[in-house]
Amino acid sequence: MSETRSTCPYCGVGCGVVIEHEAGRITGVRGDPDHPANFGRLCTKGSTLHLTATPVLLQTARLHRPMARAGRGQPLAPIGWDAALDQVADRFAQTLQAHGPDAVGFYLSGQLLTEDYHVFNKLAKGLLGTNNVDTNSRLCMSSAVAGYKASLGADAPPACYEDLALARTVFITGSNMAWAHPVLFRRLEDARAANPDMKLVVVDPRRTETAAVADLHLPIQPGSDVTLHHAMLHVMLAEGLHDAAWIAARTTGFDALRDRVRDITPTHAARVCGVPEADVVQAARWFAGLDAAGVSTRRQPTLSLYCQGLNQSSSGTDKNTTLINLHLACGQIGQPGAGPLSLTGQPNAMGGREVGGMATLLSAHRDLGNAAHRAEVARLWGVTDVPAKPGKAAVQMFEAAAEGEIRALWIACTNPAQSLPDQTLVRRALERCEFVVLQEAYRHTATTPYADLLLPASSWGEKEGSVTNSERRISRVRPAIAAPGEARHDWRIARDVAQRLEARLPSRRTPEHAGRSLFDFPTPESVWLEHREMTRGRDLDITGLDWAALDRAPVQWPCPEGQSTGKARLYADGQFVTPDGRARFSAPAPRATAESQDADFPFALTSGRLRDQWHGMSRTGTLGRLLAHTPEPALQVAPRDLDRLGLASGHLVRVSSRRGSLVVPVQASDEPGDAQAHLAMHWGSEVLGGAGSGGVNTLTQPACCPASGQPELKHSAVRIEPAELP
Ligand code: SF4
Repeated sequence: MSETRSTCPYCGVGCGVVIEHEAGRITGVRGDPDHPANFGRLCTKGSTLHLTATPVLLQTARLHRPMARAGRGQPLAPIGWDAALDQVADRFAQTLQAHGPDAVGFYLSGQLLTEDYHVFNKLAKGLLGTNNVDTNSRLCMSSAVAGYKASLGADAPPACYEDLALARTVFITGSNMAWAHPVLFRRLEDARAANPDMKLVVVDPRRTETAAVADLHLPIQPGSDVTLHHAMLHVMLAEGLHDAAWIAARTTGFDALRDRVRDITPTHAARVCGVPEADVVQAARWFAGLDAAGVSTRRQPTLSLYCQGLNQSSSGTDKNTTLINLHLACGQIGQPGAGPLSLTGQPNAMGGREVGGMATLLSAHRDLGNAAHRAEVARLWGVTDVPAKPGKAAVQMFEAAAEGEIRALWIACTNPAQSLPDQTLVRRALERCEFVVLQEAYRHTATTPYADLLLPASSWGEKEGSVTNSERRISRVRPAIAAPGEARHDWRIARDVAQRLEARLPSRRTPEHAGRSLFDFPTPESVWLEHREMTRGRDLDITGLDWAALDRAPVQWPCPEGQSTGKARLYADGQFVTPDGRARFSAPAPRATAESQDADFPFALTSGRLRDQWHGMSRTGTLGRLLAHTPEPALQVAPRDLDRLGLASGHLVRVSSRRGSLVVPVQASDEPGDAQAHLAMHWGSEVLGGAGSGGVNTLTQPACCPASGQPELKHSAVRIEPAELP
């Protein structure tokens, strides 16, 4: 038996795994005891990874060969790799020549490796000259990106996992961490056991597994986070819990914020957020790390952890900046145990941010709107320019396709016909798009019926490259077995099409690169080396690393030349990545959710993850052991509301929003509050019946945060009625 160290492909905790394999078969998996994210622990999903890669599943569930349709509505039939790659290059070149570079788009995934992302990003922005490259990470953490940049000057989470053990207060908001980031939650449980003085505050409309064990749970109304944050600051100022000297020395914008929160009292927050006034006061005191003025003078550290509940909102960036305000007001940043730490949902959402694999970003945290940054990226890539026009973010990309503006779409490692909001629109977009390429590891997803061409991709246990987890730690991903059939690595597929496009399109290469490919990448390491060079002198500089160093141990960025270890915490010196070195307070007015409940749609719907499932269940849905936790979808509603509707657990209901409807069993649950409903995100049209059903996203809305482009997946107004089965 052989062993190969790699990284779990599910959530952003980024646990190290040891893959056991023999004769080309994966036989087992266990936690890597030396990996600093998990120290040997794995959750239910990670510990069953080997069962998702059995010979039977590799044979039956995976896509083995390129498949193409002779025309729309025709069946898929196998074609060779060369013909498939030529077809992509021909159709993209033709579309681009006829309609311009912005008539094509790339929709990627936070499950791609950093090297995959780099090649796709360079292909779109450098070779083709379009910024229409976005990712399902837009649905996950783009509000966190915008929040960090607005407040601290760079998209860099300042804290680290070690801080869990050093914090006195842990403030979890918009995250059911016990289910969505289980191994990190176990670390928190250990820390609480070791430190009985630790306070756990959880903000969540639902009484989740995470909220159930909190010292203080604030079940706020969905969308009211900014009011809560402002009210907490109001308390801190009223009780003198803030750090006036630190604010004066290290920040800007405080006066406007003080004016903003003057009238946002705990009484006001209690009314808007629907939580007791005393709980708002208590949360503020614990967050500040001081008792009320005059009682204690030693500040205790506070760590905040947050995820989709904060980010998936039409005011997601405001929710992030107003949370960071609380850290800045008390100097709760850059110190052991203190700081904001956003949790990434996917295994490499962070790596995608590093390479700038989004429509509004450039490589190594450069800004698309900055001409000097565009020129730097163009020079490093060897192209004449990078276009200034922002590309379409995820939701806008599909809206543009529905309008006929984007005509050729390349989708890699994601399932937009289930995961994007407003599925009726998404499916219309996929139907209207003239050419849809789907690069996928699995034989069938909800997006497969819309693909003109399927390209089989390698997956976990087969791929090689790197990923970055929520605490900025870069880990290696290594292959234990060969990909099944003719499946190829994502970076290689993108490279091979790029080289074909170089031969078909007028050159955008600079004179120094004339006559040679810009995509001369023989290995993942060669791609990573180019990415590494892009980071030189930037806040995420990793020029001190080489591939061998990453092979030895995972490392946190930054790690500039001359250093061999990364940095656990940022901003310890109080210097931020803003032009004046000061952090910036934001003072947004609280805004309502994009749509509100009314007599026709009286319930507030939220969606979320289950403990044992991942995304559209392509991998986790193959295992009975994981399905046993929650075998079927159910709409959770408070018992009082069910009684009022004359319904009981198990009844089928039709849930309708202003965009569509679906049929699902209902379940009485104490988790949601009154007039709220909750449905897991994992099931799609195969299970949930309804017109054009893409699961819960048949109901959700495409309204986005104007600063981050992240859609409001965490709030839709819905109606619940007894269902008549069709
Ligand atoms: Fe994988 Fe996340 Fe579970 Fe760790 S916590 S084993 S990264 S799913």
